[in-house]
Amino acid sequence: MGQSAKAIRQNRTITVDFQDQSTYFQLLSDGKAFVEFVLAFLLALGFQRSHKATCGGGGCLTRHSHYARVRLGGLSIWRMQCTSCKAVFTVLPHFVLRYRRMSPDVARHALIATHGGLSLEWCATIYNISPMALYHFICALGQHRLVTVFVKCRLALPVSILADEKHSRCLTDRVYLPTIVSGRVIWHLGYSASKSAAAFTESYGEFQHMASHTDPAYQVKGALTDGFDSTASSMRTLFPRARLGNCLRHALNKLPSKLIGLSAPIRQDLRSKFHALLHRCRQRQSLRVVALGQRLRHFADHITTTVGEAHGERVRNWFRDKKAGWYAVLADPRMPASSTLLDQAHNAIDRKLFAMKGFHHPSGRQAALLTGLAHLYNLIPYQRRALHAGQCGVEVEGGVLPTPDWMLNLQILSSGGYQCAAETPHH
Ligand SMILES: [Zn+2]
Repeated sequence: MGQSAKAIRQNRTITVDFQDQSTYFQLLSDGKAFVEFVLAFLLALGFQRSHKATCGGGGCLTRHSHYARVRLGGLSIWRMQCTSCKAVFTVLPHFVLRYRRMSPDVARHALIATHGGLSLEWCATIYNISPMALYHFICALGQHRLVTVFVKCRLALPVSILADEKHSRCLTDRVYLPTIVSGRVIWHLGYSASKSAAAFTESYGEFQHMASHTDPAYQVKGALTDGFDSTASSMRTLFPRARLGNCLRHALNKLPSKLIGLSAPIRQDLRSKFHALLHRCRQRQSLRVVALGQRLRHFADHITTTVGEAHGERVRNWFRDKKAGWYAVLADPRMPASSTLLDQAHNAIDRKLFAMKGFHHPSGRQAALLTGLAHLYNLIPYQRRALHAGQCGVEVEGGVLPTPDWMLNLQILSSGGYQCAAETPHH
């Protein structure tokens, strides 16, 4: 019966910060004080516990049972019960990781090193753990959905998004990582063996599903893509009311390839004229779309007169295909103009993909590992610029974190027993 019983059992672990190990051991011998401490921590956090579906959440907590963690030298772990729905919560002290012998302090350093691009093997060597243990820990983090964690951080669902795929390899096979970014946070980091529209729709659909579960009225207003067909069509399927934009920086980089056979200086000159054109349109406060239409026409005419009709025609056709996407960017000031922030996220993930080469095999847990890495990207403080120095992506985007300590936040936010107060209890 083990397997099926395990599958239904909900993770109702709640990580509680006892500040000090000795506080925890003192409280263990005083049941009333223990319950009070836990309740005070929950209140300060502002989270609900995930009760059973039938429970209004008003019930109190009582001590239920306890067990000894043999692998942690017989450490006592208490379980508490909701007095109304009888849901049982495991109270995990902050200095213990769920089902793991690895201490949070070791994990903190190993995760920072992983996030910084050091291979799992090297992290394991430095911190005297097994590479597999670190791999499994990141995969366990990846069991928690990005959207669910953001909701706990009170981060609003994004109005406009950047969507693009990272190309990678699994041994010799080409694979794709469909990604959604908004500002400094990754909302989705999927994994697909195919670059078909159906495969991308399925991957991006995970975000759409989680977002509409959080807010049934949620709509993406604008999505910026690099114009790849599968991406654009999956965005159209999932977010039929979103305007699809094309990245202006991609456009700039693409222009020289439309001017085949011309000398480098001439192509360079035309590229910088095109750059000035896009820049001036972005600077305008009003009628940006009209201004762009006129300027694109003039620019194509300019190419015809200076380097010939064939080039003018090719550029004109290209403008015709792409301009709707550029209009979408200029029409809404909330739309990102370029995919730079997504490229930065991909570059950060790239180092880890290289680092995980030994674990990258067809039967690996790619989806879980990638989501785990995305959590690190979102929650580890790394901003260097003065405005957001020392903040993590979630903070930069206006999220609220449970504590000032990122590792503790990771433990609390990935505790299955917590849910956001705004959400009604379910399951
Ligand atoms: Zn309850």
